[in-house]
Amino acid sequence: MIYKIISKKEFSAFVDALVKSNSSFGPQQVDTNSKGNAVYQFKPVHSVGDIAFDYTATNSSIKHFFLPFREELSRFKFHRDDWKQQINYEAEPIVLIGLRPCDISALNILDDVLLNGHFPSPYYLAKRKNTFIIGIDHLPLPDCFCKSMNHHVVTTGFNLFCSDIGDDYYLSINSSKAFNFLKAFETRDPNEEDNCLLTERRKLIQNSFQTDIDVTGLPSILDIEFDSPVWEKWGNKCLNCGTCAMVCPSCYCYSLTEKFDLDLKGASREKRLYSCNLVDFAVVAGGHNFRPKNGDRLKYRYYHQHRGFAENGNQQICVGCNRCGRACLSGINPKDVINDLRMEKESCLTCVSSSPDKR
Ligand code: SF4
Ligand code: SF4
Repeated sequence: MIYKIISKKEFSAFVDALVKSNSSFGPQQVDTNSKGNAVYQFKPVHSVGDIAFDYTATNSSIKHFFLPFREELSRFKFHRDDWKQQINYEAEPIVLIGLRPCDISALNILDDVLLNGHFPSPYYLAKRKNTFIIGIDHLPLPDCFCKSMNHHVVTTGFNLFCSDIGDDYYLSINSSKAFNFLKAFETRDPNEEDNCLLTERRKLIQNSFQTDIDVTGLPSILDIEFDSPVWEKWGNKCLNCGTCAMVCPSCYCYSLTEKFDLDLKGASREKRLYSCNLVDFAVVAGGHNFRPKNGDRLKYRYYHQHRGFAENGNQQICVGCNRCGRACLSGINPKDVINDLRMEKESCLTCVSSSPDKR
């Protein structure tokens, strides 16, 4: 990693030059919600003025640049008794500007699953390696809990990361591409004062979190609470809409569909993002549903986010952005569900310690 300081004015010139010569996307206000708050989304940008650098959070995550809702994996062409398969792994180079640390962390988690696992995805790889990522730090929203998940700071997964230290940005340069792009702009090495400002900035961010979730030992609590009434309580509220998984930056489950063209001369295989909360997620051939109850499906999502991956990948895959909590029409959110589970476990421990056999 190389560190440099750039004035905000020079940074604007750098971003402007970058977006004018590349297909680029950044946060823009697209609407206002019922409470009067701005709604942001990553949209195409053509100049630095199009980018809302002071945005809070986007409702949808940037994972859709890498995992689209619908993605054609291959096409089939039929000719007499023969057929040909066409596969296109290529992806156009793009620039994403303004990613938050937890969203970059979510990409790092997707990398672990989709690139470093047993079956790397060439579709994901093509998009990931052709995307230039500029991250920017920010003060958390009142319901962000990425500090609890240890994802409020990120050190990998981006080309360039900017920390706001007043009139300047403190740049963390993590790729030769970023270093070379910056050569045409005026930067300088950080001095003692810049380092102090960076430390102050990090402290301010650290101390601005208003939501804290105790996730210590959560994987084992989930094991202990497998039959907890907590799942039925929250499951009864769930509408099975799947929104939580769609907005989540680290959920990646999908379904595959094969369909014929109307002229029967071709067919396609399509991947669609899916959610384990949808009613038919665990339906198998013959029609049996392994998870017919809402509570079982909700539990499955929490197990995947906080337990299954923790066992295999040594980390929980939730990064604490709380997009799922904000988007859920039923008010289901990780903080309340996890706190309920913890209370349930603590009440069990009280029972055990006060039971006659244990006295
Ligand atoms: S967003 Fe809420 S209601 Fe919809 S599936 Fe997720 S938990 Fe259930
Ligand atoms: S808070 Fe919700 S949306 Fe965000 S990473 Fe965790 S599970 Fe996904």
